[in-house]
Amino acid sequence: MALDDESKTCAICHETLRLENCVIDEQGHAVHKSCYLRAVTKAKRTTYDETEELLQQARELREIADRLIKKSDALLTAYNKLTGHSKSPKVDRAQD
Ligand SMILES: [Zn+2]
Repeated sequence: MALDDESKTCAICHETLRLENCVIDEQGHAVHKSCYLRAVTKAKRTTYDETEELLQQARELREIADRLIKKSDALLTAYNKLTGHSKSPKVDRAQD
């Protein structure tokens, strides 16, 4: 056997490896099957969490944008009432 001490140790938990329950991970390290599965699951969960977080942030930004648009509409309406331009809710200088 050409296995040295390093290759007999799990690269994840650093405990002694037994051939019957060891697998090789993406980096070519020998690891426990259970450690590998845990690492893979964790990685997947992290990616999932990240995407969920991004979605959540996007939703929050949209809500903020919605609120700002409504607020700006209200401000424009108030502006138009004050200035007597009640026709258009938008500020444009088309007619000069
Ligand atoms: Zn391990």
